[in-house]
Amino acid sequence: EQAVRSNIEIARDAKMKPIGEIAKKLDIPDAAVIPYGHTKAKIALDFIESLKDRPNGKLILVTAITPTPAGEGKTTTTVGLNDALNALGYRAMAALREPSLGPCFGMKGGAAGGGYAQVVPMEDINLHFTGDFHAITAANNLLAAMIDNHIYWSNSTGLDARRISWRRCLDMNDRALRSIASSLGGVANGFPREDGFDITVASEVMAILCLASDLKDLERRLGNIVVGQTRDRRYVTAKELNAPGAMSVLLKDALLPNLVQTLENNPVFVHGGPFANIAHGCNSVMATRAALKLADYVVTEAGFGADLGAEKFFDIKCRKAKLDPAAAVIVATVRALKHHGGVAKEDLKKPNMQAIERGAANLERHIRNVKKFGVPVIVAVNQFLGDSEEEMQRVVEIANAVDCPAHISRGWAQGGKGVTDLAKCVVETCATTKSEFKPLYPVEMPLWEKTQTVARTIYGANGITADSATRARFNELEDAGFGHLPVCMAKTQYSFSTDPEKRGAPTDHMVKVREVHLSAGAEFVVVIAGDIMTMPGLPRIPAADKIHLNEMGQIEGLF
Ligand code: ADP
Ligand code: MG
Repeated sequence: EQAVRSNIEIARDAKMKPIGEIAKKLDIPDAAVIPYGHTKAKIALDFIESLKDRPNGKLILVTAITPTPAGEGKTTTTVGLNDALNALGYRAMAALREPSLGPCFGMKGGAAGGGYAQVVPMEDINLHFTGDFHAITAANNLLAAMIDNHIYWSNSTGLDARRISWRRCLDMNDRALRSIASSLGGVANGFPREDGFDITVASEVMAILCLASDLKDLERRLGNIVVGQTRDRRYVTAKELNAPGAMSVLLKDALLPNLVQTLENNPVFVHGGPFANIAHGCNSVMATRAALKLADYVVTEAGFGADLGAEKFFDIKCRKAKLDPAAAVIVATVRALKHHGGVAKEDLKKPNMQAIERGAANLERHIRNVKKFGVPVIVAVNQFLGDSEEEMQRVVEIANAVDCPAHISRGWAQGGKGVTDLAKCVVETCATTKSEFKPLYPVEMPLWEKTQTVARTIYGANGITADSATRARFNELEDAGFGHLPVCMAKTQYSFSTDPEKRGAPTDHMVKVREVHLSAGAEFVVVIAGDIMTMPGLPRIPAADKIHLNEMGQIEGLF
């Protein structure tokens, strides 16, 4: 048997085309292609704006069942499906998130797909790429600097240094920066206060960049950021500190979608990368909208399982950007179903039909949930080495039994040709089943009830609870005029419930809301039900231990 090649080995052998050729496939004129090296480009804003009267292509969401810690292969399936659609002769492209540096050097695991279904140049995409995240870090920290400077010189807004909610950020896993004291060292350095850093992907600036519809909307949203409160609890915004102009200047190039290619030379936008817990977890609205004008089929991914990723994709992104998804693909794996059927990690490779039957409840609930949004659902069974035909066929039957087509997806091992059946099914579904997309709740519903609706309808919970201080925060936000915002749920991705240990499709559970956070610029209210880390730490043996340049100057150890 042939040794399995690592993602980076496969990616290194890619026969990439110059990025201008990829742009040509989409009829993007040379003048609108802004190259960043030979194989990456940004697409000019005026060109994107010139497309606005074109009809939209079909938007296909790739989501997943409740994942195991390894990830179930959403990105890999997205890339494979895009390659398969192109191979069948359709004009298709994918739209994906940009990876964060944190996980690259922390836990091993790429974010540009896997095996023969990858986006390249994968080293660049996973590292500095076109500098978007650095620009976001700079804009975030410019606002932080302007806040402390404002307090230092006049504090004319009366901002209470104890009630500053804006944090600094860095695209690195660094637990040492979670909680710090800043402005130490005497009078010339300002007023000492408690401060802290989040990872860049958790910054509200990231969420704003990903939801902004154009430069004006970007600046408007940046201005609405609430940086903290005064002693009498008035909200102070970034606009009052005159920050949005300069922040927009730092972000003007970062707002442009990045074009790259798959191993099979098909176009992909990789743009923006907000966290899927305290933010909405999908690529930018700019990229998705442009893709829908440029291609007939646009395959996109939302982070985590469908309970979090798809719900927020529909209720936040699609609602706000007026997107009309045509179909959703739910990625399932044999080993994840076994996991939900109670099998221990070390036994996941052994055939176990009973465990698959028990784990089926998880897949079934996700299928029913996504259908509640009025969107047709297709299941993709992402094949891993060692999965038997019999086991995969059983997963197909489980989906079929709840009236959902399903196909085995072999993109990881075979690239696009391994995803032909799924691609044909997607095309057929788009042609024959009309999507009647609607969000789960109306924006007029109070924040507490929105949260309750998501918990009951999607998580299968009996309801939600919160202590009196948290309930008061809900009321405070309603009174301050933020009741019309959608909720952005932050909970564990490993269970429908808030307990990561509860596998399968838990019933009879309550969702305890611990905290509510206003993202006024991103235009959602983050409802936190669990321990959510906004600045991860590195593991005992970080991936960085093994990453290095070899004698040829090539990167080794990155996935
Ligand atoms: P997600 O987007 O759901 O987090 P990814 O597509 O990024 O998942 O895949 C997670 C990891 O699993 C990646 O390292 C990828 O290479 C690997 N992977 C995905 N599908 C397969 C497969 N069928 N066989 C082996 N490894 C896979
Ligand atoms: Mg992914």
